[in-house]
Amino acid sequence: NTRILIGADHTCDTVTVGEASASPVIMAGPCAVESREQLLKTAHAVKAAGANVLRGGAFKPRTSPYQFQGLGVEGLKLLAEAREQTGLPVVTEVMETEMVDMVAEYADVFQIGARNVQNYALLRAVGKHPSKHPVLLKRGLSSTVEEWLLAAEYIMAAGNPNVILCERGIRSYDPKTRNVLDLTCVPLLQEMTHLPVVVDPSHATGRRELVPTMARASIAAGAQGLIIETHCDPSVALCDGRQSIEPETLTRIIREAKALAHLL
Ligand code: PEP
Ligand code: MN
Repeated sequence: NTRILIGADHTCDTVTVGEASASPVIMAGPCAVESREQLLKTAHAVKAAGANVLRGGAFKPRTSPYQFQGLGVEGLKLLAEAREQTGLPVVTEVMETEMVDMVAEYADVFQIGARNVQNYALLRAVGKHPSKHPVLLKRGLSSTVEEWLLAAEYIMAAGNPNVILCERGIRSYDPKTRNVLDLTCVPLLQEMTHLPVVVDPSHATGRRELVPTMARASIAAGAQGLIIETHCDPSVALCDGRQSIEPETLTRIIREAKALAHLL
């Protein structure tokens, strides 16, 4: 496996993904950065729960243009402040080529969202960015494994080998869950590529009560990490509250993930 270092470019913890026998990397935080108070409180809570990386969207790819679109650059600044306070490196989504420089300045990992997995200009832009920040490349809503890996190739061919694949569920016909978590792709990808694979059980299920079980299943399948939406009060979340867990649940998930990874 490729070893990918997160957090090398800012003053914060450094985290390695993809190391054999390392404990799983846990990225946690709110779907969206909503306010200074919300983000800092959540960041301290996920740190206390044992997370290694803080997630939070400053730019949100919402289905409707009338939904909360994120705080933008103000959100990036709040993420940097949360990193300063907690030591957690930050992963956040970059949606536009024009914003790559700006996101690079504040973030430690570029997140490419499911909706942008075939935005080749954006893939090239993060690939050739001089920061060489690792890229968390989500699987597209209906990407085949082949298409997803070729998207990763765009980033690598442009000069950045630090790609982490993130399975986040794929579209199916059954509205009972938001998506269908394709756990088969985890061992499959391990045969096909040297890139580390993490799983997002939050977007995969869309329902917080399913997140702990699918987090365990992901680790059992060989995932090298998890990215989990966590909110201190999911009922008032501006984005993805239904799938957001509370910090106490995250504590339990992390304990279980570490115990399970130890058995593998
Ligand atoms: C997210 O992580 O909040 C997100 C928008 O994810 P995805 O791109 O997988 O839908
Ligand atoms: Mn979300």
